[in-house]
Amino acid sequence: MTSPEPTADQSLTSVEYRMREAGAWLQLEDGVIENLIAPRRVLEVSIPIRRDDGTRVRFTGWRVQHNITRGPGKGGIRYHPSVNREETVSLAAAMSLKTALMNLPLGGAKGGIAVDPKLLSPRELERVTRRYVSEIFAFLGPDKDVPAPDVGTNAQVMAWVMDQYSIGIGHAVPGVVTGKPLALGGSLGRDSATGRGVVEAASLACQTRGTSIEGKRIVIQGFGNVGMWAARLAVGWGARIVGVSDVGGVIASEKGLDVDALVIAKQQGIESVVDAGVGEVIARGVEHSADVFALPSDIALPCALGDAIDAREAGLLTAKYVIEGANGPLTPAADDVLNDRGVIVVPDIFANAGGVTCSYLEQCQNYAHLQWDEDEVNASVVSTMRSAFKRLHAFSEEHSLSYRRAASVLGVKALADAHQLRGLHP
Ligand code: GLU
Repeated sequence: MTSPEPTADQSLTSVEYRMREAGAWLQLEDGVIENLIAPRRVLEVSIPIRRDDGTRVRFTGWRVQHNITRGPGKGGIRYHPSVNREETVSLAAAMSLKTALMNLPLGGAKGGIAVDPKLLSPRELERVTRRYVSEIFAFLGPDKDVPAPDVGTNAQVMAWVMDQYSIGIGHAVPGVVTGKPLALGGSLGRDSATGRGVVEAASLACQTRGTSIEGKRIVIQGFGNVGMWAARLAVGWGARIVGVSDVGGVIASEKGLDVDALVIAKQQGIESVVDAGVGEVIARGVEHSADVFALPSDIALPCALGDAIDAREAGLLTAKYVIEGANGPLTPAADDVLNDRGVIVVPDIFANAGGVTCSYLEQCQNYAHLQWDEDEVNASVVSTMRSAFKRLHAFSEEHSLSYRRAASVLGVKALADAHQLRGLHP
């Protein structure tokens, strides 16, 4: 028997839906797709800490190792109030597909804590991080599971992860985490890698249609690490950023926003792009964040949270290309709307894979006790993206599949093949 086609069941997460769809397309034997969808390990931990004022507070955290058949678990740690078990499992599954599609010798994992890091002092954030790491300590390690930054975490948080783990082992273990500060064995180019990959993905998609991103109008949702670097690098390629949105609202400029000024304002600590004094504020409030996609544009870069674009937002979107900088920003319904309209969607598991690709290069440097120069790292990220896109584009053409479906099929196939080859205990 083979896997049946999935029905558009609302209770299925997008990643599970995609995996079932890919399993059906590949006509995998019954039971195989179930095994690939189910996370290998889900750890739920309690994180009690003392606040600076002496009171006690408790958070819940998770670390999910979704697939570790092809290599150690790999994936970020997210600090956000909406983090929960189901979302972490789903994001970990996306990492399994991402590393498989990119042909990196890694599995897929994800972690997170249901906490708003903006409401904690730096000392409290450090205590939360250390307690979380000690709770999941036994499951971490350079050959077991290697975390990295994600929404709400950064290089400093990774430094605490490295330190807490190293204390337990008894010597410095830089390879337990990626996205670390340079002084602790981090990689040059890691900070910009995800944004660089997003812009490269946009450029590759444009090239298949005989054009380039030069002169294109770009709208971006989210101005965190990914959105900010994508904006900076796209401007370097001659594109115009005509709209940016975040939790505070939307700013726009037909002539192109002054991205350098936006970056400086952000570095000076503004809460939202609407406070930067750059461009025109056309809407305020998080509920308007997706309105940025309604601005006249050629390329849309959703670089914020998952499920940001549903069918309604997809109906308003004007761009011809959507490059998913975030994980899971389009719901399956939005995907259908865009597909019907002929919009080219480059899926997250390829489009934002520059980050994990650079994380892998960081691990290579840690294993070899070397530091590569920045140009070498950037060139390697870009060439890995180009090779993966070549495979993705060829497969999508050969089988008349959208990039989304082609990417899920290639990812699931690599996982299924690895399970099959390993045999009894895949
Ligand atoms: N959090 C990033 C992602 O979702 C990076 C993961 C990593 O570098 O391990 O791809």
